[in-house]
Amino acid sequence: MSLISDQYHINKLKEYGINIKTKYIVDNKILERNTDNSINDDIVNGIRCKKEYYLKNTLVHTEKEFDSRIEYTFISQKLENKEHTCPNCGMTALVKDFIDGCPYCRTHYNIDYTDKDLGSKSHYDRVLRSNTYRIITGIIDLIISIILCYFFIKTTSRTFNNIDIVKIFIYGFILSIVLYYFFYLLDAYIIIGPIKRYKDRQNHKQKKFWNRTNIDKKTFFNNLNYEVRKDYYTNENIIDYDVLDYIEFKDYKKDDKLYVEVTAEVRVVSFDNNKIKSKIIKDIYTLKRHENSTLELKDGVNIIKCHNCGASIDATKSRCEYCNTEVNYLQQWILINKN
Ligand SMILES: [Zn+2]
Ligand SMILES: [Zn+2]
Repeated sequence: MSLISDQYHINKLKEYGINIKTKYIVDNKILERNTDNSINDDIVNGIRCKKEYYLKNTLVHTEKEFDSRIEYTFISQKLENKEHTCPNCGMTALVKDFIDGCPYCRTHYNIDYTDKDLGSKSHYDRVLRSNTYRIITGIIDLIISIILCYFFIKTTSRTFNNIDIVKIFIYGFILSIVLYYFFYLLDAYIIIGPIKRYKDRQNHKQKKFWNRTNIDKKTFFNNLNYEVRKDYYTNENIIDYDVLDYIEFKDYKKDDKLYVEVTAEVRVVSFDNNKIKSKIIKDIYTLKRHENSTLELKDGVNIIKCHNCGASIDATKSRCEYCNTEVNYLQQWILINKN
């Protein structure tokens, strides 16, 4: 069932014949949603744990790394199976049969629900994800081990020739293996401390951002995700994405308009030469809050009429298909730049 919020994604996947099965953890249960509608569990505050990409019914790609602090809510079952009567022609059917508009009179329907959560971040990070400190530990360990062996051999052997130099490296290497665990613990104090303090500062900044700006978090994240989807799925060969972490939020005012710059670490999955590939990128999204009124969508079916010609319109299009009049924005926050 393609809701307004899913439409760009669903269109893109249909184009390539791809189905994505996403597993969510909800209250210790694993629930699933498929983009081809085969399974569509209702999710309340779910955390993504696995995505499987099927190309023409064959599993071709799997992703397992997600941010467990980003929550999703999709409650569409109740809505899909509700009865609905088209006010234009009187046809009665289930809401899901009206997804692509009324099959009889072709009235445009805009179906969505207000309680969705396309992925807002509920709390902040204090956990280390990167394992670079292990590599750094290894290098420091090796260097110190070699230095120790150098002094040992220099002071204990009568000669100092090529063989001794080789010995230094061999003994140093063996010593480094023995000492690794010790260094590992030592580095936990030396290296992790500053990273932890850095993360605490970032957390503090993000908490302050939401308190100070008074921006409605759920609306903001829903709008952000809608706009980012629209951009990725219409302009590039990206078939899916997941925000792995929100790194920074910055706000500023220009010409009395409020702007928010979001820096995020994102995994984008693209479809290239019949192959699914994924990579992690850092993107900066600039959003602007516009002051014009937005289209108010209520839960379920929305019939929106063009204020100029009265035709029913598709809210995801920016203009009326009949008279070309501009349609009000669907989102309060509009993506104006991405880099
Ligand atoms: Zn109808
Ligand atoms: Zn019109």
